[in-house]
Amino acid sequence: MAVLGYGMAELDFSCACGAVRGVLRGPSPKTGMRYICHCDDCQAFARFLGAPERWLDRHGGTDVFQTAASRFEITLGASRLACVQVTDRPLLRWYADCCRTPIANTYGSARRSFMSLILAGFDPRACDRAIGPPAGHVWTRYATGDIGRVRQANVAAILWRMASRMVGARLSGDWRRNSFFDPATGDPVAAPQRLTPAERLGLDEGFPKRA
Ligand SMILES: [Zn+2]
Ligand SMILES: [Zn+2]
Repeated sequence: MAVLGYGMAELDFSCACGAVRGVLRGPSPKTGMRYICHCDDCQAFARFLGAPERWLDRHGGTDVFQTAASRFEITLGASRLACVQVTDRPLLRWYADCCRTPIANTYGSARRSFMSLILAGFDPRACDRAIGPPAGHVWTRYATGDIGRVRQANVAAILWRMASRMVGARLSGDWRRNSFFDPATGDPVAAPQRLTPAERLGLDEGFPKRA
């Protein structure tokens, strides 16, 4: 599984206070795609959690690894999982409600097996060794400060790999292995909180859209 020396058996996740722990199995550049997302929704999520400077880089970027949801398992503190929708789209943004550490983004249903794991709760050096550096940046028009010239990630490649992983998980039945959804009902393990437009506007205050 190692590619160019990358790849590890697993990577440990821990929220900041240690009450929620998890494991990512088989992280490597082959099993997913790491990139930095600067989109306004990821930034709004970080502000929703509080202390966004803990979760974002200095240009408002979120370091994510998009991979099969079945590779990530919560091993401790599952009752502390919570999720929020920052728009009216059915994207669930998961976090540990003990200390508000971000964990992952998923769709609203386990059947659409998509997971973008947020790497803030992982050891950065271990991530570099296992997955390698980010493939690039996306949504840089929302980046804060002068980001200069950075490598753009290939969005078409991200979408293509995401779609093929979702189809593969659906065909193999692998979609049932998902720590964020009840395998019996397919429902999220925590009821999603949906921000009202006013709540979202409050998060965006002082962060004008750059579209
Ligand atoms: Zn915690
Ligand atoms: Zn984003």
